[in-house]
Amino acid sequence: MGTNVTASRGPTGADLDVVVEQVAQDVAGLADQGAVATYIPALARVDPAHFALAVAPLDGPPAAVGDADTTFSIQSISKVFTLTLAMQRFAGDIWERMGREPSGDPFNSLVQLEYENGKPRNPFINAGAIVLADILRTCLDDPLSELVQLVSELCGEPVTVDGEVALSEAETGFRNRSLANLMTGFGNIHGDPQAVLDIYFAQCSIAMTPAQLARSLGYLANDGVDPRSGARVLSAEKARRVNALMLTCGTYDAAGEFAFRVGIPCKSGVGGGVVGIVPHHLSACAWSPRLDQTGNSVQGRAALEALIDRTGLSVF
Ligand code: GLU
Repeated sequence: MGTNVTASRGPTGADLDVVVEQVAQDVAGLADQGAVATYIPALARVDPAHFALAVAPLDGPPAAVGDADTTFSIQSISKVFTLTLAMQRFAGDIWERMGREPSGDPFNSLVQLEYENGKPRNPFINAGAIVLADILRTCLDDPLSELVQLVSELCGEPVTVDGEVALSEAETGFRNRSLANLMTGFGNIHGDPQAVLDIYFAQCSIAMTPAQLARSLGYLANDGVDPRSGARVLSAEKARRVNALMLTCGTYDAAGEFAFRVGIPCKSGVGGGVVGIVPHHLSACAWSPRLDQTGNSVQGRAALEALIDRTGLSVF
């Protein structure tokens, strides 16, 4: 006979407030490590000293420390939202157009895409997200507006695209243009590649706060249902699959290291945000603009690792 050991773990309420403060202290010594992304000029202007951790538990009030109400560029974290929107609205098979395997390559790599006939390894590298943008163009009249509306509903506040960042991306997105053109050559981008990239650059330029990001992803911790509104965002099965992809592919070629050290589904962006999900417990967002060599936030990863260590919450 098995013993029932499903009692809830992890702190809530005032205890969680204490934990996030402790986590901020745990990672303070890393404040000078890494460098702000400069390949998108508008991102290079961000103050590298920002730090925040925001946690949205399913069974209690949110907790936050640092600059949790400061907006920043969500960048690749947007890929979680576009995958969600495509899973909601695209009647075809997303997986005919991209895989579900970690790439083991940098997020903007072209090499693998050439070897693999223009089929991206997964939806969370740039190539996969560009195909997702193309898919959204085929099934939605105004994909960007629908995306902004979805994200606004999920976080309960209106969010906007930062036009300056989007312009900066468009002016310097040479590698992304190469990816889109290569995939067009292989027949895996069906629409006008420039129009597809316009959506991709805009989605990456959505500005949100860490607190907004943490609560917007509650549905991934809650079997696909938005814990605040009760609205079903995805089926439980699809939510599990998004989590699985985040765990295996959400942090580029550091996905193994993230799984080893943090051990929960995560998605990072070069704006310095990292979101993490503990299914049935919480969603969280850490933010610090200084990145390591793989494009992941140094303090962001460390903060999620410390959060998991201190709460004992994990998927393993
Ligand atoms: N807009 C960025 C790019 O396309 C997103 C990359 C990221 O956040 O990892 O290069």
